[in-house]
Amino acid sequence: MNKTVLARLTRLLDIPTAPFREHLIVEHVLAVCARAGIDCFLDPAGNVIVGARDRAHYRRIVAARSAEPVRVFISHMDHPGFHAIAWSGRGRLTARWHGGSPVRHLRGADVWLSDARGYVGNATIASAKIHKAGYAITDMTIRVDDAAIRERDAATLFGGLSFRRPVWRSGKRIYTKAADDLVGVFAILETARALKRRRSRAPFLGVLTRGEEVGFVGAVDHFRLGWLTRGATRPVMCVSLETSRTLPGALIGKGPVVRLGDRRTVFDPAGLAILSDLAERLLPGRHQRRVMDGGSCEATAATAWGLPAIGMSVPLGNYHNQGFEGGPDCRGPEGPAPELVHLEDVDGLLTLCDGLMQKGLAWRDAWAATRKRLTKNAAAYRDLLDL
Ligand SMILES: [Zn+2]
Repeated sequence: MNKTVLARLTRLLDIPTAPFREHLIVEHVLAVCARAGIDCFLDPAGNVIVGARDRAHYRRIVAARSAEPVRVFISHMDHPGFHAIAWSGRGRLTARWHGGSPVRHLRGADVWLSDARGYVGNATIASAKIHKAGYAITDMTIRVDDAAIRERDAATLFGGLSFRRPVWRSGKRIYTKAADDLVGVFAILETARALKRRRSRAPFLGVLTRGEEVGFVGAVDHFRLGWLTRGATRPVMCVSLETSRTLPGALIGKGPVVRLGDRRTVFDPAGLAILSDLAERLLPGRHQRRVMDGGSCEATAATAWGLPAIGMSVPLGNYHNQGFEGGPDCRGPEGPAPELVHLEDVDGLLTLCDGLMQKGLAWRDAWAATRKRLTKNAAAYRDLLDL
C-alpha cells in the first residue's frame, strides 16, 4: 500500500463513530467524494450511496438492459459504542451501549467522547452492566474529570473504547479503536476511485450503511425501499465487505477471506464460484476461504430480501474491542483492546474488489468450467462404468 493510500485509510480510522452516530464518517465520505469527483447522495435512512448522483441515476443504473450484474458493495459506517444519556451528579455520566463489546476488565477503562463536531476528550468507565446473556455491555456509568466536558449537554455526547491513539501502525499491523467496518468503507471508496481512472468497468454502486451493529438497520431500510428490485431489469450482486473475527483458517496476515457465509446463512453459490476463481487468479496462495461464522453481516440481510449476495472479509484481531488476541493496550482476556488488521489483507481486499469490477466474468454460467472439468474426468472412467 503506498503512502497516499495508507494516509487515506488512517484518516478514516481516526474518525469517531457509533451506531446511529455515523455523521462524522458521512461528512468525511461526502467531502472525499466531492474532491475526487465521485457521485454520491444520501438515501432516506441516511445511508451514503456511492456511484450515483441521486435516486433517478441509481434507478437508471439498475434499470439498464444488460446481462452484466450491478455490483452493490455494502459496508457499514458504525462500530459498537455508546450514547450518553444524562449527568447523574459528581461528574458521572450514564450511557447506553449499542452492539457487541468486551465484558471483563471494564472498570477504569478509557473511553473517548465525541459530539457532532468531533472528539471532545476522554473519560473512564466507573461501572458497567452486562447483558444477562453475557455477551455485551447494556448500560454504563462514566466518570468525567474534565470540567469543560461536564458543562456539555449529555444528550449530544457519544463514545467508544479508547486506547493510546485512535489509530497507529506497528510494522504491517494497524491498531485502531474501530477497524470494523471502516476498512470496508475505505475499500468501497478506493474501488470508486479506481473506477474513475479506468474505463470499461462493470456497473457499480456502494451502500455505506448506518446502525449495522444492532441488526443491519440502515441496510434493511435501504432494501425495503425496493430500489434494487422494483423496475430492476438487470441482475444485481450484493457484495458485503467486512472485517470479521479471526477463526482457524482465517488468520491475520494470510490474505483477505472469500466469505462463503456468515453465522446465519451461506451465500450465493454461483457468485462465490466467480469470486473464488478470481481470488485464485489474482491472489494465488495469498487469500483464504471459509464460512466466517463468528458474526453475521449485511449479506444475510440482502439474502433475506431476495437479493443474491456474496462476501469478503479482512481478518480482524480483537473483534469488537474484545481482547481475544491481546497485544498492546489490551486490558486482559475479554477486556478492552484495540482492533487490529494487517495491511496486506487490506491490500488484498482492494485487489479483489477491483477484480470483481471486470466486465465479462462468468455470471451467466458460473459452473461451466467445473462441468467441463468433471465431464473430462468422467470420460476417463468410461471403461470402468461398463459392467
Ligand atoms: Zn462489521
